[in-house]
Amino acid sequence: MSSIFKKIIDREIPADIVYEDDLCLAFRDINPKAPVHVLVIPKKEIPSLADLNDDDETIVGHCVVALAKIAAAEGLHDGYNMIVNCGEAGGQEVPHLHFHLMGGRQPKS
Ligand code: AMP
Repeated sequence: MSSIFKKIIDREIPADIVYEDDLCLAFRDINPKAPVHVLVIPKKEIPSLADLNDDDETIVGHCVVALAKIAAAEGLHDGYNMIVNCGEAGGQEVPHLHFHLMGGRQPKS
């Protein structure tokens, strides 16, 4: 079943889109937990990390490279976090694979 992120891909609901290409889409998290909080998602409907197969290596690599480019474009030159929640026990709420880009916080001392 399609998730809310599929509706964002299809422009059925709005989002603050910061990047798009043939394989992925990136938009700002609606409830940001960091000054910069962007979600990078594959356009292919993959529910979670646990559903990846060998054919998805290119897509996942593409999303990660896109995330790094977005981080640079957002000015996160001192570093950032990439987080992927997987499954119920991993705290995943939206069943469409997504990579959280989070940055802009003061580093822990
Ligand atoms: P996760 O817990 O890893 O599944 O993260 C889901 C994320 O999606 C959360 O950080 C939500 O704030 C975010 N989110 C849910 N709905 C939307 C939406 N319509 N637009 C942007 N971000 C959303």
